[in-house]
Amino acid sequence: MSGAPIKLLARARPEILALQPYSSARMEAGAATIMLNANESPWAPIGSDASELNRYPDPQPPALRARLAELYGVSSANVLVGRGSDEAIDLLVRAFCSEGRDAILISPPTFGMYAVAARTQGAAVIEAPLGPSFGLDVDALLARVTENTKLVFVCTPNNPTGALVPLTAVAKLALALRDRALVVVDEAYLEFADGAASAATLIAHQDNIAVLRTLSKAYALAGARVGTLIAHEQVVALLRRIQAPYPLPTTCVDAALAALTPNAVDEAYARMRLLLCERERVARALSSASGVFEVFPSAANFLCVRFADAAATYRALLAIGIIVRDVSRYPQLSGCLRITIGAPDENDALLRALGQREAAA
Ligand code: PMP
Repeated sequence: MSGAPIKLLARARPEILALQPYSSARMEAGAATIMLNANESPWAPIGSDASELNRYPDPQPPALRARLAELYGVSSANVLVGRGSDEAIDLLVRAFCSEGRDAILISPPTFGMYAVAARTQGAAVIEAPLGPSFGLDVDALLARVTENTKLVFVCTPNNPTGALVPLTAVAKLALALRDRALVVVDEAYLEFADGAASAATLIAHQDNIAVLRTLSKAYALAGARVGTLIAHEQVVALLRRIQAPYPLPTTCVDAALAALTPNAVDEAYARMRLLLCERERVARALSSASGVFEVFPSAANFLCVRFADAAATYRALLAIGIIVRDVSRYPQLSGCLRITIGAPDENDALLRALGQREAAA
């Protein structure tokens, strides 16, 4: 690791700091042309014209890392690529939380994987609920921090509410927790937030912030599983110690690079602009539909909607082949469904279905 160790590293699990990381054959290959060090097949796979698939992929493909760094406006040294943000969440919890002792802090209602990753690791999940209008309550979060709190997850825009967290709140949280806990800012939906700035801009001054980005939403690559963690380079190096040797399949790396050429990014932004128009159209239509109590403001590619009878609405939509997400069991979200904004014809079908149901009721 370069530079003096940052104090936050002392908060990682001691056994992770002490372990001798696995050195994969691919990492040792260097400029060799005859590769006899990884027990691979010397031939391309039968029935495939992808000539590189007999070789293990680069653990952190430099071209992809560089492209993602450029896309997110950070340096490659601050980038860790992996199998979706889901993997980054898991790596963070495993690197920082000791079983039976440490804890993460979350603000429900929020993305469920933070709690699942923590419980899988045997870490406690402490909750400080979102405040009015689903705003992040920084003081409530700080009041719940203990000596054993290692990670604080902030999801912005938040899934499933759609609310954006101001960067000032993230900065305040990180400042108060300096050297003690890592603030993990999940920006899976940030591209839909109309130009809102990323917390990655804070990392140069606040080394206890990690940002999660993904190609699964705005770049239409959920099937390729490419996620990025942006953090201080020593945090990146820490997580590399426990990441599986070859997290990204070659075909997924190629798909990601193809989706990130300048032209492809322009097209992705054109699609996002369309989705934002659709989000406003669907929100307006739903707000005036009978049976809808509330459409919450959203900075993401979905709407959180409170219905008079969410269960009946869910069933009625399902009966005609439209599936939405039932989030009514989440705290503060009774009666709510989360509806992804689809293509215009899909949104039309949704609105028609809700209109028809009302007409029939
Ligand atoms: N964070 C949030 C807030 C999400 O909603 C999701 C996916 N639903 C993820 C992370 C996981 O994304 P990925 O596909 O990058 O693993």
